[in-house]
Amino acid sequence: MRDWREALTAAVPRVVLDEPLARYTTFKIGGPADAFLDARERDEVRVALRAARAVGVPVFVLGWGSNLLVKDRGVRGLVLRLTGEFEKVSFPGGDRARAGAAVRVPQLVVACAEKGLSGLEPIVGVPGTVGGALAMNAGTRDGEIGPAVLEIEAADPADGSVRVLPREALSFSYRHGPVGGLVALSCLLQLKPGIKGDIMSAVARYQQKRLQTQPVHTFNVGSTFKNPPGRFAAQLIEQLGLKGHAIGGARVSPVHANFIENFAGAKASDVLALVDLIRERARATFGVALELEMRVVGE
Ligand SMILES: Cc1cc2nc3c(=O)[nH]c(=O)nc-3n(C[C@H](O)[C@H](O)[C@H](O)COP(=O)(O)OP(=O)(O)OC[C@H]3O[C@@H](n4cnc5c(N)ncnc54)[C@H](O)[C@@H]3O)c2cc1C
Repeated sequence: MRDWREALTAAVPRVVLDEPLARYTTFKIGGPADAFLDARERDEVRVALRAARAVGVPVFVLGWGSNLLVKDRGVRGLVLRLTGEFEKVSFPGGDRARAGAAVRVPQLVVACAEKGLSGLEPIVGVPGTVGGALAMNAGTRDGEIGPAVLEIEAADPADGSVRVLPREALSFSYRHGPVGGLVALSCLLQLKPGIKGDIMSAVARYQQKRLQTQPVHTFNVGSTFKNPPGRFAAQLIEQLGLKGHAIGGARVSPVHANFIENFAGAKASDVLALVDLIRERARATFGVALELEMRVVGE
């Protein structure tokens, strides 16, 4: 029998083999994808999903890699990333926006602000894509993407078919969105009319606050852990005396204790060792089980 990778590249010639993934993540960490495709249009997504299904390999959808720790030996199967036609924002009227899944969140928020549409300002500093924001219900204490989402267009890896999930079928919770197992292609958002200048000022305020409180210029993936009910993960980690603590090339950020930074060529194993240490100490000292917010993929 032919190698599955040969069969996959025969069906989808733009598939690249053994593509290093570190460059596609904000951590700059991670081994290669067996097979990788930057899909530019719906038809390519459909063909790739069907081909992966036919050869029996899993598909992982990569956004901006801003919430991902890719393990050192990489990801088995096909890694799919959206580009091209998925990078567009349009305004169909009725205070709505339609955003492709590959649009970057800050770009979407600013495009809405320029149209005098409000509702997404608190998430302007989330560096990922719309697809990633839907998967994670990206947000801050001041607001999440979920409440604005009217529908999601998604492809099903089982057969490549595309369907529209209406508002009633969508359930968002803290850092959890409704696209598990599907490939989000676009979404329709309901916004509120506002005054462009006021919306822009709010956007600038949220950006400024982030620059002051987060290590935005380092290699990281934002919050490592979800906040446990009624508490803040950063505060707990700080109280454990672990702010600045390093293992290999990874350290707890000296600026924000719930961020881990790759400050010196860290391996995924360094990050995971730090995660284990923090969890063990938090359990032993506070009796708190910290749950990961960043997603870990690969082997
Ligand atoms: C400096 C910094 C600050 C951050 N601040 C915040 C913050 O304030 N609030 C917050 O919520 N997050 C924050 N994050 C984390 C991150 O930006 C968000 O979780 C973001 O939504 C992830 O989007 P992404 O495109 O990078 O997804 P990725 O990291 O690439 O993937 C995350 C998950 O989404 C899935 N996914 C991605 N695209 C699709 C798609 N098209 N269809 C289906 N599934 C998909 C992936 O399979 C994966 O499971 C921050 C990160 C950084 C680096």
